[in-house]
Amino acid sequence: MYRPRNLDVFIYLRKSRKDIEEEKKAAESGASYDTLQRHRDNLLAVARKEGHNILGIFEEIVSGESIAERSEIQKLLRELETGVADAVLVMDIDRLGRGDMLDQGILDRAFRYSGTKIITPTEVYDPESETWELVFGVKSIVSREELKVITKRLQGGRRDSAAKGRSISKKPPYGYLRDEQLKLYPDPETSWVVVKIFEMVRDGHGRQAIAAELDRLGVKPPDEKRAFWSPSTISAIIKNEVYLGHIIWGKVKYIKQNGRYKRKKMPRERWYVKENAHAPLVSKELWEAANKAYRSRWRPSTVESKPLANPLAGLLKCEVCGYTMWYQPRKDRPHPLVRCPNPKCKGVQKGALLPLVEEKILQSLAEFVDQFEVQEDRKEQRSVIPLKQKAIEKKEKELRELHKQKDALHDLLERGVYTIETFLERQQTIVSRIKKTQEEIDQLREEIAKEQLKEKNISEYVPTVKKVLDAYRLTDDVEKKNRLLKSVLEKATYLRKPEWTKKDQFTIQLYPRI
Ligand SMILES: [Zn+2]
Repeated sequence: MYRPRNLDVFIYLRKSRKDIEEEKKAAESGASYDTLQRHRDNLLAVARKEGHNILGIFEEIVSGESIAERSEIQKLLRELETGVADAVLVMDIDRLGRGDMLDQGILDRAFRYSGTKIITPTEVYDPESETWELVFGVKSIVSREELKVITKRLQGGRRDSAAKGRSISKKPPYGYLRDEQLKLYPDPETSWVVVKIFEMVRDGHGRQAIAAELDRLGVKPPDEKRAFWSPSTISAIIKNEVYLGHIIWGKVKYIKQNGRYKRKKMPRERWYVKENAHAPLVSKELWEAANKAYRSRWRPSTVESKPLANPLAGLLKCEVCGYTMWYQPRKDRPHPLVRCPNPKCKGVQKGALLPLVEEKILQSLAEFVDQFEVQEDRKEQRSVIPLKQKAIEKKEKELRELHKQKDALHDLLERGVYTIETFLERQQTIVSRIKKTQEEIDQLREEIAKEQLKEKNISEYVPTVKKVLDAYRLTDDVEKKNRLLKSVLEKATYLRKPEWTKKDQFTIQLYPRI
């Protein structure tokens, strides 16, 4: 029979009436023993063999049949509600209870709604399987259709958690810490950074500029693997309503397609929002002002109905503040200008003649391609893939070592070196390290895949750029020119310091669409 491995499990122990009678008999004949102790050893051995992570052990001291009489099962069921466990490990189903219809219904629901499995030393019961209905014999209580609706609503207790204002994301959002009740509270180390980001966006600074400023201040980015702040992190923070004090669940959903899970963004009306769940970091006024400023900056820089006059429309950004550069035709002069519209860039950033900027971009693209062709021969040396593969090997070794350590904990427990408490504590530490290492490995694998794609794309990119450059020279259609550039460039940034007086004295930084 198939037995799942490496699950997060709770252990539940309870003596039956029969156990108590047996214990009595044994005691009379002088061979006393403790049933719970026996069961515990048995289940710990199962956990060890199958690599499960034990989240906690619930030992019922009273022998009552009904749930109302048993405090430990009540605690266990409350834990299951949060969706924290994958399974409950018990000696047999009867330990959970074979009480009346009401109890059966309660048990059935608790396991079904949270999707928690029941594992015994010989059986595995999965609430998602067709035969589950036989487990508690409650076929008639909830129909399958009805259940679908309910599970959708509860989603393994997660929405329920959100409803209670608990934060259940993998990590607390940047700027917050999380207490034991999973409530967020401001992180004194980082909450000020969030406020600063909102204020800077409100005041018209671009994402690039803000990222650069934070790097300059030596503020570490939220993603520990990165050395610098990225514009996309700034965007994510600006758009996150968690900073208003709300908990939001269900923004994305994972949908199984062809056996693989795909991330799907959900429409806002299907989000689950719990307002005022924790202390906000920014006021509603600041949040709205920042988001308004943010949206207005990233609007397309042309009006659809007008024929396009600027081949660089939506492509050229100010290197200082990130604003899209404006196109400015001049009545009395033959050539239009490009300039940064941000008042903050007055006296910092100077405009230039459009044809000069356009020519420089084309030249830079040509140079980029040339330069790359030279480098092509040394591709193997430049690749970061071998380095990342080495890192994976190292982490996999660490992982094997951690698994060994996890297994060794059982020896220490069996030999009485560790108490159950110490065992559980040490095990949690190791399991969280295992999970972290595994995540790092997954991350590295993803990076390698991206890198492979990039390397492949670069070799396809070079010929594309050549074609684009040729086509560009051959057309007078401004709109076509714009499309051509956008097909190979994400954007280009522009810088011209006030003291740079020569007409063609400015710098262009290209962001190729690779
Ligand atoms: Zn600017």
